[in-house]
Amino acid sequence: MGKKKMKGFAMLGFDTVGWIEKDVPEVGPLDALCKPLAVSPCTSDVHTVWERALGERSDLILGHEASAEVVEVGALVKDFKPGDKVIVPAITPDWCAVESQMGISQHSGGMLNGWKFSNMKDGVFADYFHVNEADGNLAHLPDEIDPVEAVMLSDMVPTGFHGAELAEVAYGETVTVIGIGPVGLMAVAGSVLRGAGRVFAVGSREKCREVAIGYGATDLIDYHDGDIVDQILDKTHGAYVDKVIIAGGDVNTFDQAVRMVRRGGIVSNINYLGTGDYIKIPRVEWGLGMGHIRIAGGLMPGGRKNMEYLSKLLVHGRLDVKPLLTHRFHKFEDLEQALLMMKDKTPDLIKPVVTLA
Ligand code: NAD
Ligand code: ZN
Repeated sequence: MGKKKMKGFAMLGFDTVGWIEKDVPEVGPLDALCKPLAVSPCTSDVHTVWERALGERSDLILGHEASAEVVEVGALVKDFKPGDKVIVPAITPDWCAVESQMGISQHSGGMLNGWKFSNMKDGVFADYFHVNEADGNLAHLPDEIDPVEAVMLSDMVPTGFHGAELAEVAYGETVTVIGIGPVGLMAVAGSVLRGAGRVFAVGSREKCREVAIGYGATDLIDYHDGDIVDQILDKTHGAYVDKVIIAGGDVNTFDQAVRMVRRGGIVSNINYLGTGDYIKIPRVEWGLGMGHIRIAGGLMPGGRKNMEYLSKLLVHGRLDVKPLLTHRFHKFEDLEQALLMMKDKTPDLIKPVVTLA
């Protein structure tokens, strides 16, 4: 008897996407098979397909943001069973890997290899998808959280918050967030939750600016109005900011970040740099190499515990992700349109989400 088939929305090759049919994945003893309840395309899918950022990928099912229902579990899975509704992190590390023991589970088994969906294996834009190490990588979806909102816990919330974590944002600090798409907006929200005093949000789209203020940004900066460093230093009367979180821009953005951060400050990058070979850092403003300005860049942390903690913020009303969900679709087939929206970024778009159940 032939294997059961499923439909998925895939990167067919560079610059091309489309629907394909594949075998339903097999489940190992520690793994789970899930079917999505709601999914959302990510700007990272856009970098992968249209900027060729990860290199050649053919017939790779896209997507790494989903809430789901468990369909099947392996014999050794203890805490999940078919029918359970779950939060699925975009990053699903191998928890036995030495990198996980070193606190960098994002790189379990190799650089960025904790990022499996739509990178190392088929993603979540399919009738079914495979989750490795289900007990370590899935989290039960609390009844209080709408499965559509839970999709923002897969990637947008943990990534933006990781920006604030890497920047070690502390009470009263002044933070600049460069780029206020959904990730940057969550970096604003994460910085505010960690106690930032003043938050400069750098972005131009009106919708994003309005939502940034809602999440607690104190000042808006538009990069079309001139050099953002000049604009920010003007507002602080020349004082450098404590921390910068980069959530948009490109390899040149580090130059601006270093020029506005104080000695001993931190520039944290969560942006996926899709193009360019080198990052330029200004020598003099980096203290001739001795300014104690740290530059940290990271993939979001995945795994069950992080999802459980972040979900508490939604359950107890500390974080509302609804303002991110600007466009809602209700059919699997709409995924194509949703992904193209993410590529073309209409002025009113923050995140499109596709409900499947
Ligand atoms: P987005 O494209 O919606 O937002 C980025 C924003 O930055 C856009 O609004 C854009 O106009 C703005 N921008 C572009 N150039 C700028 C500049 N020079 N100065 C200021 N703003 C500028 O993307 P997003 O969905 O919010 O994601 C942000 C980045 O994070 C993407 O590169 C994405 O791939 C990446 N990402 C990383 C992780 C991770 O784990 N580190 C996870 C998810 C997404
Ligand atoms: Zn992503």
